[in-house]
Amino acid sequence: MTTKFDPVAAMADSRHEFGEHGGVNLSIEASTTFTVMAADEMPKIFRGERGPFSMQARNATGGCYLYGRNFNPTVYTFGRMLAAMEGTEAGYATASGLGAIAAVLMQFCNSGDHIVASKTIYGGTFALLKEFFPLKTGVTTRFVDLSDMVAVELALQQTKAKVLYIESMANPTLEVADIPALSAIAHRYGAALVVDNTFSPMILSPVPLGADVVIHSVTKYISGASDVIAGAVCGSEEFIYSLMDLHVGSLMLLGPTMDPKIAHELTLRLPHLGLRMREHSARALVFAQRLEERGAKVCYPGLASHRQHDVLARQMNEGFGFGGLFTLDLGTVERANRLMEILQNEHSFGFMAVSLGYFETLMSCSGSSTSSELTAEEQQAAGISPGLIRVSIGLTGSLEQRWAQLVDALQKVEQPLGR
Ligand SMILES: *Cc1c(COP(=O)(O)O)cnc(C)c1O
Repeated sequence: MTTKFDPVAAMADSRHEFGEHGGVNLSIEASTTFTVMAADEMPKIFRGERGPFSMQARNATGGCYLYGRNFNPTVYTFGRMLAAMEGTEAGYATASGLGAIAAVLMQFCNSGDHIVASKTIYGGTFALLKEFFPLKTGVTTRFVDLSDMVAVELALQQTKAKVLYIESMANPTLEVADIPALSAIAHRYGAALVVDNTFSPMILSPVPLGADVVIHSVTKYISGASDVIAGAVCGSEEFIYSLMDLHVGSLMLLGPTMDPKIAHELTLRLPHLGLRMREHSARALVFAQRLEERGAKVCYPGLASHRQHDVLARQMNEGFGFGGLFTLDLGTVERANRLMEILQNEHSFGFMAVSLGYFETLMSCSGSSTSSELTAEEQQAAGISPGLIRVSIGLTGSLEQRWAQLVDALQKVEQPLGR
């Protein structure tokens, strides 16, 4: 990669949507249905000759909305902002990250088609691909180790997969995908590269790096407040519009719609996502470095000791660091649990809760929580040890205050338990 993408500049260059009365913020279009001024407009909308959901109509006549499960103007604007951030032609938001993942994969695959996916992916996505899809849709998935390019290539060749599905930074081992290399392999075998970029918004821009579609669980960093469940899809105009097709569009027909009030709120958070990512990353790096100096088993892509440190450094955009997540391996579940209890109940360090990207620190034991859909063998294969704590570093308090709390808790756990 020679030219780096700048998501902050791209967002600033995109059109600013004003409110109905000249407000600096856009208005909320809180309507589930939309009128037409002439009765003969309605059949044209349904035939796809008018309306934002038809590229043909959009090019010819401009916007005309139909019904809230289809495009809504406020959600559409949020989608445009996300598309600018991801460097894609178009984007649209959904009611959840998993809603976006399911819709995208069902749009690409028909019954009997195959997917090749990384074996280190979010537990819900893993269950969707491994159990739900084969049972309900006849779409099957072969799971591969992304660092083994020969295995990826072989799987794509043998299965004639429609999609190569990966996470830019994988949950919870923080493995970093080599997006340019994987996109080249996927395209050689006619597969689309779909990337879940939930862990690394702003830091990685998968489409400029060669991917076809980007998905986010907006629930995490983009929201930043752990208060709403939301998702998004960014890609080509043709693909985003196909999701809303009245006859075969997965978003239109499965209906994981984002509420315009939620979309409006999220448009007010996106402008400071870059600042938040920078702070999350800066703190995570200091913590990871200091933990490593103490001899702890810490895994963070910003450390030279991380397996894909160079892979990330080569692809990442400038100014947002290496992400806000690291893992700490305490060896056993008991020690991991004790550390988290001290940090939550004796200090104000953070909370024992799944999820990530919150302004407060969140800690969870991956093996017994977010990755518990995987069997013990699958967890071992994915590098998830029982004492592994995933930490999503928050922004509150001072860095030194938080570090002192962590050191105190570590010292308490390191003391023998008297057995
Ligand atoms: C949380 C998460 C999802 C699922 O998103 P929801 O918004 O909870 O539906 C998908 N992928 C990753 C990487 C996640 O962390």
